[in-house]
Parts: sequence; structure tokens; C-alpha cells
Amino acid sequence: MAASSLDFSQVAERAAALQSELNQRSGGLTRLLAVTKGFPAEAVAAALQAGLNEVGENYAQEMLAKQEALTDPKIAWHMIGAVQRNKVKHLAGRVALWQTVDRPSLIDEIAKRDPGAAVLVQFAPWQTSGKNGCSVEDLEPLVTRAVTAGLKVKGLMTVGVAEDEQATIEAFKELVKRADQLGLPERSMGMSGDLAAAVDCGSTLVRIGRALFGERPPRLQLS
Ligand SMILES: *Cc1c(COP(=O)(O)O)cnc(C)c1O
Repeated sequence: MAASSLDFSQVAERAAALQSELNQRSGGLTRLLAVTKGFPAEAVAAALQAGLNEVGENYAQEMLAKQEALTDPKIAWHMIGAVQRNKVKHLAGRVALWQTVDRPSLIDEIAKRDPGAAVLVQFAPWQTSGKNGCSVEDLEPLVTRAVTAGLKVKGLMTVGVAEDEQATIEAFKELVKRADQLGLPERSMGMSGDLAAAVDCGSTLVRIGRALFGERPPRLQLS
């Protein structure tokens, strides 16, 4: 893969088009998070140049490598992938928003290693229990636990249901309803494939990779 495969002006054009769509649909309520996972570090530079300073990464090691390559303090790094507990200490102090908090053990570890960190609770309203998001039943206890542990709970995050637009919209609506009930302002939902639906449902933060940077190169084994 050529490191120069990234066209900065194309990223800037796509960012501008996305921003104007967000402005039209949400009246400026929704921010754009540039998801750079799987793209080279230049993608972060391209996002910055396009005026996007919030960047999302899924894998601890990949985030740390890109942070070493790009030290601009303007960049706000969001962790948007599943986090193993043993990775938290390496990421502590380097994550502006932990978006995937979904279980007590992870709350306790973040509270210990990164006291007072800003987090979102990841919500998967269609499941009764499991990974990558908590159930409806577990949501409020998790929020309470995180607040009690001293974390700043900014809001909720969800990933839509693959290949099921209707279920995805239901999940977005459920997330907004719960966030309203809990008084949480941030609603992180929507990716390249379901951006419009997410914004129309009330997303405050869409997480966009492919619609900014093009198709992701095949993933190499990074960890
Ligand atoms: C990869 C990823 C995204 C971005 O997906 P695109 O389809 O590239 O826009 C958003 N959120 C999460 C949690 C992801 O893993």
C-alpha cells in the first residue's frame, strides 16, 4: 500500500460535503468524528487539515502508534473499539473520550488508571446481555456505577444492527429516549452506512471512516 494513496484535498472536499449535510439535517447539532482505524497515520493529518480534530480509533496499539506519529495537541482521540482491560493502562491520559464502556470491570479499570476520564456508555438495546454494548436492563446501573467511580459520563454510544435498517433506527430511537431520561447530552451514533438515519434520530456525533477516506485497505495483523 502506498502511503501517498491518501488524497488530502479529496478528504477536505468530502468533509465539507458531510458537514453541510449535517448542518442541513440537524441544524448544527451533530459533530463529525473522523474514524481513521485501518488507514495510515496520514489520515489523521488529512482530517486535521480538513478542520476535523476529533479522531476515532478502534485498537489500542494502532491508536498509540498514530499518537506517536501525530503529536498535535489539538487532536482529540476517541476510543471507539472494544477495549480489553489490560490495555487501559497504556491508553490512560491519551483518550479524550472512551466511547465503549459497557461493563463494570472496564469502568473500574478506567476509574483506577484514568481518574475522572470522560466516557460514553455503549448501549446495544436489542440484546439482553453480551459484548459490545450493554442491555436496556444494565444501562442505568452502569451509568450510576461510572458516575460513582468519578468518571464523567457524557452520553451513550451505539453501533447499528448490520444489514437491518429498521432495527438500526429502532436502536437509535431507543438510545435517544434513554439518553433523554438519564439527562445525558452526547449521543454517538451513525457511521458511513447509516449517517442520515442517525442524524434524523438525533445523533450528536457521527463516526465516519469510509465516507471520508474511501475504502479501508485490508486489515493487517496489528496486535
Ligand atoms: C469502523 C467504525 C466506524 C466507521 O465506520 P465507516 O463505515 O468506515 O464509516 C464507526 N464506529 C465504529 C464503532 C467503528 O468500528
